[in-house]
Amino acid sequence: MSEHELTHALPSYLEPDHVGPWGIYLEQVERVTPYLGRQAKWVETLKRPKRVLIVDIPVELDDGTIAHFEGYRVQHNVSRGPGKGGVRYHQDVTLSEVMALAAWMSVKAAAVDLPFGGAKGGIRLDPRNYSRAELERITRRYTSEIGVIIGPHKDIPAPDVNTNAQTMAWMMDTYSMNHGSTTTGVVTGKPISLGGSLGRVEATGRGVFVVGCAAAKDNGIDIEGARVCVQGFGNVGGTAARLFEDAGAKVIAVQDHTGTVYNSQGLDVLSLLKHVEENGGVAGAPDCDALAADEFWGLETDILIPAALEGQIHEGNADRIRARIVIEGANGPTTPEADDILSNKGIFVVPDVLANAGGVTVSYFEWVQDFSSFFWTEEEINERLERMMHRAYTSVAGVAAQHKVSLRTAAFIAACSRILQAREVRGLYP
Ligand code: GLU
Repeated sequence: MSEHELTHALPSYLEPDHVGPWGIYLEQVERVTPYLGRQAKWVETLKRPKRVLIVDIPVELDDGTIAHFEGYRVQHNVSRGPGKGGVRYHQDVTLSEVMALAAWMSVKAAAVDLPFGGAKGGIRLDPRNYSRAELERITRRYTSEIGVIIGPHKDIPAPDVNTNAQTMAWMMDTYSMNHGSTTTGVVTGKPISLGGSLGRVEATGRGVFVVGCAAAKDNGIDIEGARVCVQGFGNVGGTAARLFEDAGAKVIAVQDHTGTVYNSQGLDVLSLLKHVEENGGVAGAPDCDALAADEFWGLETDILIPAALEGQIHEGNADRIRARIVIEGANGPTTPEADDILSNKGIFVVPDVLANAGGVTVSYFEWVQDFSSFFWTEEEINERLERMMHRAYTSVAGVAAQHKVSLRTAAFIAACSRILQAREVRGLYP
């Protein structure tokens, strides 16, 4: 446990860093407002979250001391359906970040046309500093605290950075015990034994691969032999790298929080995944060169996949990027300034709200399966996922061509229009 987490005097939501990712989201909304026609009347709806819950999470640690953690759950918009979005455990989680991530979930769900609104949660802690038993207690207390606003028809959490199927099992159990009945549909990304869906773990990376292939085709890039660089080698980056390699691409560089590894002939993704499992990161992997972190961004490549955290491609490095297409596996990896730089350089960007929507799409399948208590095969899931991702990509590309705008602006136009149409026909009540 770091001292910072325990003695942090000022809660992060009182620090003057509110602009952060939420400021970036607001700028993205500003950019699409001129394209919203008469729906622009309702655009203020998108500029404020519907509901923000900040909770204190007091937990007894293994050594008997009491620690307090800051937890959040933000429901950005629920006009089109219940809130949906992950829960992140990270030492840098702030209210601004969770608000932005919740808003991007609203846009993502609408861009893919899932019947969900957007929500997100987070706990400000570094999970590497806590035992499994401590993480279980933290998760259960957090779930109890946000229990008043979540539910299978209200808001459905899922995994995100540093949370997984086990975290969801604890959340589902805590919610169910507090409500007196087993409620599998309250979270998605659960273990298969608890009503989880086949294909969910891989879904985000698979979606990145599917839209990545569509984007490559549109840009005249043959996947066979294409060079791919991936930042973030967790669930999203690791799966995407493996699928691109299986399809004949060469994954030439991978960066994670421990280092950057490079091999111009292509890394062996499976052995790199094994190395990461055994050593906690890519640093020290055999048969490759170690690069300085900053060199990663200047590598010449066909496909660049940022699949880690927000704000990784910014004014300071966007100009050096020599990729032909960027597929955003992470949420919010590119700042608006960097977006402009990439677009001026003619780099084709598939935005997060489209590129990483595979996860929430299979979460939707899981939620539907839980309600019907009837489970689909992995082939059915992957086939439906592919179909939905293709349909979303094609329809967003159509909007981009119609308005002569980037795919990000197009995805926002399509999504915001859907959200605001629902807002308008529902009307104001009470
Ligand atoms: N955390 C994932 C995302 O950012 C998945 C959310 C979900 O499945 O609800 O899209």
